[in-house]
Amino acid sequence: MLLREVDYARPGTLEEAVSLLAAHDGARALAGGQTLVNVMKARAAAPDVLVDLADLEELRAIGFADGALEIGAMVTYTQLVASSEVEVARPILGEVAATIGDVQVRNRGTVGGNVCVADPTNHLPPLLVALGATFTIRGEGGERTVSADEFFVGVYMTAVGEGELLTKISVPPSSGAGDGFAGLTIGKHGTYIANAAATVTEDGAVRIALGCVDAVPVRATALEEKLAGGDLSEGAVRAAAEGLGATLDPPGDVHGSADFRRHLAEVSAVRAVLQAASRRKGA
Ligand SMILES: Cc1cc2nc3c(=O)[nH]c(=O)nc-3n(C[C@H](O)[C@H](O)[C@H](O)COP(=O)(O)OP(=O)(O)OC[C@H]3O[C@@H](n4cnc5c(N)ncnc54)[C@H](O)[C@@H]3O)c2cc1C
Repeated sequence: MLLREVDYARPGTLEEAVSLLAAHDGARALAGGQTLVNVMKARAAAPDVLVDLADLEELRAIGFADGALEIGAMVTYTQLVASSEVEVARPILGEVAATIGDVQVRNRGTVGGNVCVADPTNHLPPLLVALGATFTIRGEGGERTVSADEFFVGVYMTAVGEGELLTKISVPPSSGAGDGFAGLTIGKHGTYIANAAATVTEDGAVRIALGCVDAVPVRATALEEKLAGGDLSEGAVRAAAEGLGATLDPPGDVHGSADFRRHLAEVSAVRAVLQAASRRKGA
């Protein structure tokens, strides 16, 4: 279906982009367009102005600041996969990005778009929650940062308000921690039916986030507490995770019933924790 008519702006600076978004009700940022253009074609979204972020080079950078890995909102999945900074600091980001969609989606789709669309089945939200990332949001009034736990607010809803832009995501360095990601997709590179991301620090602290089981990624805090500093052998992790699924209230759909998702979430959490534990320093 053809797009309905829409105004298009391609600002050259971040300030200009933010003022365009603030000046027009119904203006939307355009990143890779892999979701936005499709929902516009389906008439599920009808922005009056598209503010294309393509020329904002500062949003395409990957680097380090205060020891943290900083990823610009317009960094593509392909960039993440190829980045030596990501490989050094948090290789799981490149590993997971390499499994998103197909090569065209990975060449166009951006980290910022992936999290701002806040689709509960997207790959990056649970991973960034498990890694304890922070998100920098810019508006006309200035800049603020929010934690990953606060960033995801609901299905297709984030802490980014009207007239604001996500500019970058900061991920703490691994400092000896290991990271893991597991789940079941529809087809080889399809969207997830359920998934889990985990990180285990050198001294055994654990963070686990579950995807596709609620509107936003769900922290498995009770399991994190049970595992903290303890035995992370397969038997022990399996035993600790028993019953995790029963605490969840996932949706059921054509790809999996609620009960199947409960089961998958539990299995995925175990696999993600075991992978993370096996990768931490000294394992
Ligand atoms: C065939 C296909 C398969 C896919 N498979 C997967 C998959 O397996 N896993 C997965 O995770 N994703 C998948 N996707 C989605 C893909 O990852 C998209 O790239 C992503 O969801 C949106 O990123 P984008 O850069 O294209 O953003 P866009 O589509 O341009 O934007 C998405 C939304 O985010 C907003 N936005 C974008 N950037 C910013 C910003 N910096 N600040 C504020 N708001 C912003 C836009 O206004 C829009 O509302 C798939 C997409 C396609 C077409």
